[in-house]
Amino acid sequence: MIYRFSLEDPIADRFVEAVRSQGLDCEVQTADRVVVRVFGYIDAQTEALAGRAADPPAPKPEGGDIWADFANAVSPVMIAGPCAVESTAQIAAVVEHLKKRKVRYIRGGAFKPRTSPDAFQGLGEQGLRIMAERARPAGLKIVTEVMDRSQIDTVYRHADVLQVGSRSMFNYTLLTALGAVDKPILLKRGMAATVDEWLQSAEYISRGGNDRIILCERGIRTFETNSRNTLDIAAIARARSQSGYPVIADPSHAAGRAELVEPLALAAVAAGADGLMVELHPDPRQALSDSAQALDFARFDALLAKLAAMRPGLEGTA
Ligand code: PEP
Ligand code: MN
Repeated sequence: MIYRFSLEDPIADRFVEAVRSQGLDCEVQTADRVVVRVFGYIDAQTEALAGRAADPPAPKPEGGDIWADFANAVSPVMIAGPCAVESTAQIAAVVEHLKKRKVRYIRGGAFKPRTSPDAFQGLGEQGLRIMAERARPAGLKIVTEVMDRSQIDTVYRHADVLQVGSRSMFNYTLLTALGAVDKPILLKRGMAATVDEWLQSAEYISRGGNDRIILCERGIRTFETNSRNTLDIAAIARARSQSGYPVIADPSHAAGRAELVEPLALAAVAAGADGLMVELHPDPRQALSDSAQALDFARFDALLAKLAAMRPGLEGTA
């Protein structure tokens, strides 16, 4: 979370002191303003110091706890689900499996940004309704993509976390509009974006008023074509330390192949990722999009077992 103070504001020092006294780390940058990036979730009193108390008492932003879930994660948070919502039966099967494994976040695109206009574009609002009808009663939180400003209201109604896809990272009007949303934003790195460009995109959301940002490294384009993308492990560590936002990894879109998802997921967690987003399908061969990279339930369970061995306490691994 980022807090800004004017250069003359004496509160900045007291704020930093209060943050550190809570056992949290922060980074202070002084240029035209004092910018304090806090790694973790400060208490309300400290937040009030930063001037937020001056605002009229606002209702606790919806999703605040979700963001804290990632920001304060002791062990990485798992988000799993299909590339795209395809049918009620598909989502029902995924929900049932995630419940069994005590995973609390489900993903699934309803508005799909596809490179080819001939490819399956998603079920749109109907997909969101399927997701909400099945996942909500099961207590799962929904992560789904918003591609355009015009979709924000619709996606907001059904989603707990609004995802900005790799192809939309440079859509500054979308990012600015998401600044006014009181739910967490999962900002994926553009496939050809530098870490700096990615963090500047986050800044667009943050300046709009929404600091509940979760960054997601999903692989970048390099000369290597052996895997779909190249998972940038250094970027996970850099984005975390430079922004103060939680950073998760999406090994599925990096790998492009199911058998590569596990090693990439383990590497991301070893590098400090606060969570993982993994594509999971009851029958990957039948998937209407990204079929080659989807894990089936058995492979997903194998991944959870590996993660449990590496990081005891990870969700779904109890
Ligand atoms: C997705 O996660 O559904 C997706 C389309 O991924 P990306 O934006 O990273 O390509
Ligand atoms: Mn996909």
